[in-house]
Amino acid sequence: MAQHFLLTSKARTLSPIKIARLSDDDAFDLLCPLRWGSKENVVCPKCGIAHKAYFISTRKQWRCKYCDHTFSITSGSIFANRKRSLQTYLYIIAKFVNAAKGISSLQLSRDADVNYRTAFVLSHKIRKALLETRDLQPLSGEVDMDGTYVHPAPRKANKKSDRLDYRLAKNQNPDKRCIIVAREHYAVDAKQENVLHCGAKRSLVMVAKTESQPIIHAFATRFVKANSRINTDESHAYEVLLPHYHLQTVNHKEMYRSDLGVTNNQAESFFSRFKRMYYGQTHKMSNTYLLNYANEIAYREDNRRKSNGWQFNDILGKCLHTTNKNNEWCGYWQRKIIHQEVVWQ
Ligand SMILES: [Zn+2]
Repeated sequence: MAQHFLLTSKARTLSPIKIARLSDDDAFDLLCPLRWGSKENVVCPKCGIAHKAYFISTRKQWRCKYCDHTFSITSGSIFANRKRSLQTYLYIIAKFVNAAKGISSLQLSRDADVNYRTAFVLSHKIRKALLETRDLQPLSGEVDMDGTYVHPAPRKANKKSDRLDYRLAKNQNPDKRCIIVAREHYAVDAKQENVLHCGAKRSLVMVAKTESQPIIHAFATRFVKANSRINTDESHAYEVLLPHYHLQTVNHKEMYRSDLGVTNNQAESFFSRFKRMYYGQTHKMSNTYLLNYANEIAYREDNRRKSNGWQFNDILGKCLHTTNKNNEWCGYWQRKIIHQEVVWQ
């Protein structure tokens, strides 16, 4: 049996210890190529002109030749107006990457010795960068689809006599949400030799109030090309896909894999990792950020065969290329910003 990828030396190309010990110059040199390709040819975040700006070496800042704006390596990015050293941000990203099932803000705050609120905002900035840079091109070929519910029922009353029938719609939790995922398979490798390219290739997620036919239809129309093959479970909600897709179902009450070889196990695999994060790490997920959490797991699933060094550079690059428009995380704990939930209904 092949060795699990995470046990191989190819999976380990990043050391959080080395990241924490980087000098100021080394940390700066690490970020420049990821943001602009080099330290010399930079892009002014104010006027957007790429040029050889004047470099103020003592402050590690540049001055734009066109608008006189002075900017640093993080200006205009999601890490703008930072108060911590670059090494702290890099270390937190390294810990975030190495947590295969996600990491709680509390653990990040203890690992990096920062306030819980700092760790919470920073981890959500990383999730925002992952969400904004995701590839929204429609999936095609063979696609597994499924939905799972979170926050399904309110806490049960202490006494059995006081408990309600939570199967009834009127007694269900108003915060109940459904996460729907679609995962495109890698094209079939006839020789089955390339174990790095088997399973799911790319995943797209969304949050809805119910797993209903109109929601499934809208999701598939937006995110899956017509005439693709879609594998689902026995839920009636997916019957709406029949006219436009090659629909295959497996009845999970009887089996997980049909005699014809139909499964939606890639979608189940996504939920498996998601629920491990929910129950084992974060314990609580606000509906406001449910899409961000689900998309984080989609990223981790899609890049499960990439080394942690590759993921570190990728996430860091995404953070540096995500703009800090409206300062939407600035003053979060002072309630200057109230984020809105993204939900299909
Ligand atoms: Zn400028």
